[in-house]
Amino acid sequence: MISKLRIFSLVLIHILIFSHIYYFKDEKIGSIDFQEFFHAFIKSGILNAGTILVLIAFLTTLFFGRFFCGWACHFGAIQELSWWLLKKINIQPKTVDSKLVTILPIIILLHFYVWPNLWYAIKNPWSISIQLNQPEIWAFLPGWIIGMLTFLIDGFLIVYFLGRKGFCRFLCPWGAFLKIPNSLAMFKVRKVNTCTNCHNCTSNCPIGIDVNYEINTYKKVTNTNCTSCFLCIEGCPEKALAYQFTNPINEDIHLTQFLPKQKSIHTNIKNLFFSIRTKDIQLLFLTLTFGFCINELYGIGHFMAFGISLISSFFLINTYSFNKYRLLTILKTLLIIIFLTHGIIKYCIWEGLRQYENKNYNSSIKYLEFVINYYPKSIGRFHILLSMSYLENNDYKNALKHAEKASKINPNHKTPIKLINEIKEFKKSNYYPKF
Ligand code: SF4
Ligand code: SF4
Repeated sequence: MISKLRIFSLVLIHILIFSHIYYFKDEKIGSIDFQEFFHAFIKSGILNAGTILVLIAFLTTLFFGRFFCGWACHFGAIQELSWWLLKKINIQPKTVDSKLVTILPIIILLHFYVWPNLWYAIKNPWSISIQLNQPEIWAFLPGWIIGMLTFLIDGFLIVYFLGRKGFCRFLCPWGAFLKIPNSLAMFKVRKVNTCTNCHNCTSNCPIGIDVNYEINTYKKVTNTNCTSCFLCIEGCPEKALAYQFTNPINEDIHLTQFLPKQKSIHTNIKNLFFSIRTKDIQLLFLTLTFGFCINELYGIGHFMAFGISLISSFFLINTYSFNKYRLLTILKTLLIIIFLTHGIIKYCIWEGLRQYENKNYNSSIKYLEFVINYYPKSIGRFHILLSMSYLENNDYKNALKHAEKASKINPNHKTPIKLINEIKEFKKSNYYPKF
């Protein structure tokens, strides 16, 4: 019954999302995206639909736990669908047990969403304003191709490699944000009857929580990754679990419940889990390095970049090859080369832009020339910056060449056309326009 209700809720959420996009559009209500709370509210005090969604999710989590994650998240739904499809073809991925489920999402949340927006708010005037129809629905969402690839990687591949709800556990910054109110939630899964240690609850939990350990140690599920999906309650043959309210004043709180616990995987359910705790540091290092190497290249967002980097890092540290499987070794070496090459390109973009802003045009030319030669995607903006840098160095031949390339890449953009005309004027009159 609970499973059916949850599926109904997840389907309903998708109907509402599609109705918003295609029927209501964004005339009255703009993007209802979690990141709005950070990009709009923390940064500039804008109260929009996304901000209100996050405030509702935060407040309801304080009372009911991470209900939003278990019953209303479209990313969660895609992972459930993927899990169901894999089961249909007799594939049951193991749940990867790692301490990174606590650390990685928090790093992503702080680095990409909290810190840059908070820093901007500190440096600029901040005031509350209401803008319900802003931004437009697609303003910060990737196009169809990147969007579909993101769902494929974070919805399907991640489930295959890291287990059911792999994205929620290892990467989701919104889940990390809701951990704080979840630790204080008044409604929790609690032990209400005798437990026979059958471990059904643990094997049913999509998040990989050791429910049996938690309810027998603390008499409730304390893990802040719990999404209040109630599959543990549904699967308990002894009716030993219930979702119950406790007044926070009477709540029995042990400090140890907030510390990372060593998972005590019982032999009955050992085959459902795969522990990589001994390789956590390697996985963290590789995931962060690879993620930063490709993040934002080709229009890839944080979710997709870190999804690719997590899966690749997991693959690298968990498949042994060397002489035995030459193909695997070649594949791994290729993966490392691809990530590192993109890391160098990313560094050159960053350094090229920095040098341009600091008016070190010779340096910016050096870095940006490298970028346009080795970055497989043609970006008009880099050609414009190169054109302007060459112009600053009185090299109008190269300036014209890059302005024309920028115009070819984006024929409808006015900047390259304006630049070409100005360079031609300069050639005629010997007038040197400064930018
Ligand atoms: S502990 Fe129970 S309610 Fe929480 S995520 Fe696991 S199965 Fe769902
Ligand atoms: S499913 Fe119920 S009886 Fe079995 S271990 Fe969990 S709480 Fe105990």
